[in-house]
Amino acid sequence: MRQSRVEKILPSIGNMTAEECSQLKQALKARESQVEGSVVLQKRSENIAGCPHCGSASFKKWGRYKGNQRFRCEDCAKTFSPITGTPLAGLRHGEKHIANAKYMVAGMTVRKTAEALDVSVATAFRWRHRFLEAMSEMNPVELSGIVEADETFFRESFKGRKKDMPRKSKSRGEPASQRGLSREQIPVLVARDRSTGKTLTQVLPSRTARDIGVVLVPALAADAVLCSDNASAYRTLAKAAGIELRCVPANPKKKGKGEVYHIQNVNAYDSRLKGWMFRFRGVATKNLPNYLGWHRYLDVPKSRPTPKKFLTGALGD
Ligand SMILES: [Zn+2]
Repeated sequence: MRQSRVEKILPSIGNMTAEECSQLKQALKARESQVEGSVVLQKRSENIAGCPHCGSASFKKWGRYKGNQRFRCEDCAKTFSPITGTPLAGLRHGEKHIANAKYMVAGMTVRKTAEALDVSVATAFRWRHRFLEAMSEMNPVELSGIVEADETFFRESFKGRKKDMPRKSKSRGEPASQRGLSREQIPVLVARDRSTGKTLTQVLPSRTARDIGVVLVPALAADAVLCSDNASAYRTLAKAAGIELRCVPANPKKKGKGEVYHIQNVNAYDSRLKGWMFRFRGVATKNLPNYLGWHRYLDVPKSRPTPKKFLTGALGD
């Protein structure tokens, strides 16, 4: 009887040196991550409902390409794979995506990810942002019950931009030229449903009632009670939209014990976000929504998503 592939290898493991063991371990680890990625793709192939080009439900298997099943539409005659039409379509080295997902769950920097995946920094950067594009769109649909809202700020950054700089370049770590709030600070709305922990984070064009309202009001359920600081923008938008609003006293000493209306959950989220962002040493403002989406995805109570779930999420399933 033909020996299985494993049976062939096992006897030679008995006299391996420590160095060979570590080589084999590495090879197995790499192979494992490839297989995990195929599981995700295999599942997608089984669940394809229609041609991504024309939507037709009549398509046939059409050979394999680089290990991936391909299909051909019988109506438009175009071919496609399980990742056609997803943010990951057209990316080479498909087998490395699951490993990439793993490093993203761990919040690894681009440079370290590139090293671990053995791809260039530019490639790791491109993959990262393809993954994140899919996620940055996902904000919770509805916040209900007590909803805390506040803004936080990120310094404007043109990191990575080489041409058409709107102002003179700064060296890293140079302080913003104006203290406190200025145009160099990009406001981000953070709103959190206290009971579910669902969080909305979105870059705002400004902190006016109008700009905050456009983002916040559609996300609030009819029963929502909004908690904010004393900023007049919230009073204005709550009045205009007929939302029940509780303002937190500006002076925390005046706050009674056991007070239900506070914004401590939003403040805590904000410090987790800032703490997590610190490793990236400032992100380009144009990429800020991607990072916000990434953090929202990872900051879930109890358990972080697995790399498999992360990859599946990036594929839009
Ligand atoms: Zn078609």
